[in-house]
Amino acid sequence: MDLSTPLAALGPVFRMKRSALSKIGLETVEDLLLYTPFRYDNNLIVSKIGPTQPGETVTIQGNVIKTSNVFTKKKLTIQRIIIEDETGSIEAVFFNQRFLLKNVHEGDFVSFAGRIDRFGNKKTIAVRSYEVLKSENSEAIHTIGLVPIYSEKNGLTSKWFRNRIKPLIDNLHVTDYLPESIIHENQLMSLSAAISSIHFPKTLTDAERARLRFSFDELLIRNAAASIRKKKLLEKERAVPFEVKKNKPKIQKFIKSLPFELTSAQRKAIDDIFSDLSKDTPMNRLLEGDVGSGKTVVASVAAYLAYLNGFQVAFMAPTEILANQHFLTLSKFLEPQGLKIELLTGSSKKKDKGSKIKEKNQPPTPKRQFDIAVGTHALIHKRAEFEKMGLVIIDEQQRFGVEQRAILKEKGTNPHLLSMTATPIPRTIFLTIYADLALSVLDELPVGRKRVKTWLTPEEKRENGYKWIAEKVKGEKSQVFIVCPFIEPSETLSTVKAAKEEFEKLQKEVFPDLNLGLLHGKMKAAEKDEVIKNFREGKVDILVATPVIEVGIDIPTADIIVIEAADRFGLAQLHQLRGRVGRGDKESYCLLFSDSKSDTTRERLTYLQTISDGAKLAEIDLKLRGPGDMFGTAQHGAPDLRIASLTDLTTVEAAAKAAEKILPQLDHYLDLKERIEQADIPKVSKD
Ligand code: ADP
Ligand code: MG
Repeated sequence: MDLSTPLAALGPVFRMKRSALSKIGLETVEDLLLYTPFRYDNNLIVSKIGPTQPGETVTIQGNVIKTSNVFTKKKLTIQRIIIEDETGSIEAVFFNQRFLLKNVHEGDFVSFAGRIDRFGNKKTIAVRSYEVLKSENSEAIHTIGLVPIYSEKNGLTSKWFRNRIKPLIDNLHVTDYLPESIIHENQLMSLSAAISSIHFPKTLTDAERARLRFSFDELLIRNAAASIRKKKLLEKERAVPFEVKKNKPKIQKFIKSLPFELTSAQRKAIDDIFSDLSKDTPMNRLLEGDVGSGKTVVASVAAYLAYLNGFQVAFMAPTEILANQHFLTLSKFLEPQGLKIELLTGSSKKKDKGSKIKEKNQPPTPKRQFDIAVGTHALIHKRAEFEKMGLVIIDEQQRFGVEQRAILKEKGTNPHLLSMTATPIPRTIFLTIYADLALSVLDELPVGRKRVKTWLTPEEKRENGYKWIAEKVKGEKSQVFIVCPFIEPSETLSTVKAAKEEFEKLQKEVFPDLNLGLLHGKMKAAEKDEVIKNFREGKVDILVATPVIEVGIDIPTADIIVIEAADRFGLAQLHQLRGRVGRGDKESYCLLFSDSKSDTTRERLTYLQTISDGAKLAEIDLKLRGPGDMFGTAQHGAPDLRIASLTDLTTVEAAAKAAEKILPQLDHYLDLKERIEQADIPKVSKD
């Protein structure tokens, strides 16, 4: 057995849980060993029974001298187990653990961790965890020491993990894949010590050092992989350079045709992109810009240049709603220039427009089906047949995995790639994890944009708030988003149910004479389209939605947004949500509601009242809540690290240095080399 052995090969206990394991990505011994505990129960104090005192939390061991199962009224059962050692005896009481006495019998040697208590003059223990041991000399893994607690999913309990992981660690011989010099210079734990200490540490310091070792490895591997990618891109991959100069007049004319002037940040980004596109190495550029900074139009200009060079463009967005919106935007901008745009999403059929219907009955022509295909994942998996794809554009790139981006790129031969995101990524992190990406930042909002006036509204002002909204709708034709509480990280049935209930209540009781629409992720694509279309056209006054509208929706006439249970979101996410309004020239408003009584929570939310810069808010988030929330809980993690934390800049930098040092000698460290290469292999995503 080694780290790469499939778990299924280790026997029936693993095979029985195969699908549960694979659902959380555990396929090999290594996967399981890197499934690290998120905390430890402290059972460091072990005591004889006699000297224990009420109030102490301890682990005691002894022989079972009596067990009983007592049935009380109301179907309650109580299990009593008396154990003794050479210093005394004690009674453990359990409630409703009917199967307990199938596992624990008189004469067994057991270990109990829990709190000592007293009933009258009888000493008892409230057991937190127990285990039956083969003999007094057997090692207790559930009740003594720092006992690992794992995230429990699909019926896999912490006890199950401990029972499986302990023998694996005891029987595993691993050779360290890191060079001795790197381990030494960075004072890292050896691989085998780290594996053992992360699960069963002797002290919390040990656990911390083990975690550090894995973080280091992960960052080193990611960094090295990015550097290799960059080098390959520069040396090997040849893209067809786009002709820029010759097409300048047409581009200029197109930009003039837009209904607004480009900001200078947009013009600068377009220059960056054109300069990349005119090279014979494929572009790999990230366009970062706060919500509403106008990334889409920059992408449209790039797409137009691709078209003028005879290439097709793939434009991928994370949701159908967004794909649909981009489809409309691109059609509006680029159809007048003669481009054919097509929409490809999972559930919707091709959007037939008048001109296409006519084409249907004509004999097939050698002419191309489309110039730009806009879509969701469907672009990757299905129907999109590209003849000559030269540019891939990915919106909200943090929503996609590395794999998905790679697969889409493979539909062309070395196409240029433009990714877009509103998530600000600190520079050090950018250099470390995305060493192969070039960056353009839209650090300027279009002129005339007003700040969204934001209030954390106390519950007692809710009714007044609703009244004000009704007046704004009737008097000034305001259009309103009401974002319902986000109940689960992903949009589950309970979230949808809450939205439906809120919608019905609001329509019946609060806004009976206004038009309300409902939008949630479980609706059919056609229904969603219909609601959004009605909202866009002003036929719906108030759109009640789950947080699906977080990403990208652009309806410039909307000017009020209400966010319920705001405390459940990170500041950066709230900022994204708020960015759904304030896109036109109307004064816009955001009302935040939260029933949290915590002062720190309310204080956190008040940052939104004064700060309107997404990058600043993300920074505050990072400080207050850590990196997990920066990218949003429900999202495909960008940069989806398993263990490492991006806030640990010291490790980020040390790992980057080590990667740089090791790269030229990689052929001496084949195991490490393989890991670095593996980090880049596109896996087909399961969702
Ligand atoms: P995001 O960067 O958040 O994706 P969008 O591309 O959706 O932003 O643009 C937001 C809105 O701003 C759109 O309605 C778009 O037409 C408009 N817009 C983009 N650039 C400008 C500009 N230079 N001046 C005025 N409005 C603009
Ligand atoms: Mg956008």
